[in-house]
Amino acid sequence: MAIEKLIKTNEEWKKILTPAQYHILREGGTEAAGTCAFTIKLEGVFHCIACDNPLFISGTKFESGTGWPSFYEPYSPDSVIFKEDNRGFVKATEVICGRCEGHLGHVFNDGPPPTYKRFCINGLVLKFVKGEKRPST
Ligand SMILES: [Zn+2]
Repeated sequence: MAIEKLIKTNEEWKKILTPAQYHILREGGTEAAGTCAFTIKLEGVFHCIACDNPLFISGTKFESGTGWPSFYEPYSPDSVIFKEDNRGFVKATEVICGRCEGHLGHVFNDGPPPTYKRFCINGLVLKFVKGEKRPST
């Protein structure tokens, strides 16, 4: 199932998002570690705060000790888009929302099994829906 894109101008996003959310999603910013790590263990789905696209499920979240919410796989293969990010001093792969194309965080290859990926995501751009489950396919 292809995801329907949600495209807005920066001016429109500014009206919807808080300045901190806008900075992360539209300007590729990063929140300070420990801002919003979602340390409470509850079952549910993490959605994009801007467009409500489901991004990650609680069962794939793990304690990375970094201070950012960390997951080992996305909700579905087209939940997120990957983009090479060469702006920083460390070469990293940027993780972008598959629906609104907002910046979410980065993915690294030092995660736990089964994927060995570590999706390091800004908690401020996630909306947690408690009790929601991924439909079985
Ligand atoms: Zn989104």
